[in-house]
Amino acid sequence: MSIETMYQALGIDQAVYDFGQEVLSGLEGRFAEIDQRAEYNQAKVLAAMGENRVSAPCFAQTTGYGYNDMGRDVLEKVYASAFHTQAALVRPQITCGTHALAVALSANLRPGDELLSPVGAPYDTLEEVIGIRPSRGSLAEFGVTYRQADLLPDGSFDYEAIRRAINSRTRLITIQRSKGYATRPSFSVEQIGELIAFCKSVKPDVLCMVDNCYGEFVETIEPSDVGADMTVGSLIKNPGGGLAATGGYICGTADCVENCAYRLSAPGLGQEVGANLGQLPAMFQGFFLAPTVVAGALKGAVFAANVYERLGFSCVPNGQEPRYDIIQSVILGAPERMTAFCAGIQAAAPVDSFATPVPWAMPGYDSDVIMAAGAFVQGSSIELSADGPMREPYAVYFQGGLTWYHAKTGILMSVQKLHERGLIQLPRREGE
Ligand SMILES: *Cc1c(COP(=O)(O)O)cnc(C)c1O
Repeated sequence: MSIETMYQALGIDQAVYDFGQEVLSGLEGRFAEIDQRAEYNQAKVLAAMGENRVSAPCFAQTTGYGYNDMGRDVLEKVYASAFHTQAALVRPQITCGTHALAVALSANLRPGDELLSPVGAPYDTLEEVIGIRPSRGSLAEFGVTYRQADLLPDGSFDYEAIRRAINSRTRLITIQRSKGYATRPSFSVEQIGELIAFCKSVKPDVLCMVDNCYGEFVETIEPSDVGADMTVGSLIKNPGGGLAATGGYICGTADCVENCAYRLSAPGLGQEVGANLGQLPAMFQGFFLAPTVVAGALKGAVFAANVYERLGFSCVPNGQEPRYDIIQSVILGAPERMTAFCAGIQAAAPVDSFATPVPWAMPGYDSDVIMAAGAFVQGSSIELSADGPMREPYAVYFQGGLTWYHAKTGILMSVQKLHERGLIQLPRREGE
């Protein structure tokens, strides 16, 4: 059977497939660059695993208190080596990215301190952690104040505003690498390094934390290589490689990470407790696979941007721009198009392909959100998924794909659904 017939069996028309191939033919150079970075990062992970003598006994399950959990301790050393930090906290007990960030913030801030975001509003779920939207147990309730310096209209840092915002109470600076649900650009690690250097030049003892969600292994350096005191993320995104069933990580200075461990478990207990509950094999293997998984997701993102630009939609980043995370936003401009796009991603999923995504109110988000995901791990967004808040400008955020071929199928299927519903016009092919 030909590949075209195979795609037709999945419900993707010849015309949609041909359009995809035409777009793809211009992307060889981009794909080669992505592969090169993956190769570098694969070597980095292998070196970290070798240095820390990963071995079969590291995969043993522990229960209860989890005292003397060798595998857990080695995994944390592997993360610390790969991120070039003094220490790391990598646990299945960290329930998600928001939790990891909440731990990092609340562990290192004290009443009377101020938190500053120099990159505009943080990710939606952090608004409640900080208390921007009042919430029980927020940092605001514990007497930690918050200040923000917005980005300039062109998306760059407003250094003057940042300088003015830093004061005697500023203790911690939070920098979000990925755009999240905003239409601003994501930042390169180099840009983040410049921002950290600036903040520390204004106030040398200020702590800098980077929300690294979706950024891991996209470049060959991480925020921890450019001065971040804490680099934080979720294991059901990039570094879990699709295999980690849950968890989060905080890589950073020994001092910051120790504070985080005391906060996550209890003062006095810290990193000494926390059973691995059998999660370690997937956490190690996922980290090992993460560089190639991220490469597949990046190819999907680049492909999606080029496909949707050809269809007349604006994309962030655009089809040519370099990538600093795995997220692709496509500004679809209408709720029906968001629904159709998500229907396509859902139909291409290995799990729950028969389901129909509908917008709903999600905890932590202030408007209805539509999500398409048919994942092996619930909510995993390193697996192919699309989501977006149902509000202007009706932008869908597309990410992941454990394999490039699955990402490709999902994008073609989204085009198919938009095409079937009369919501797009396929470009005319040369010679037609
Ligand atoms: C995903 C994400 C988070 C955390 O979200 P969880 O769903 O709690 O894992 C935080 N910041 C950014 C930029 C993210 O993309």
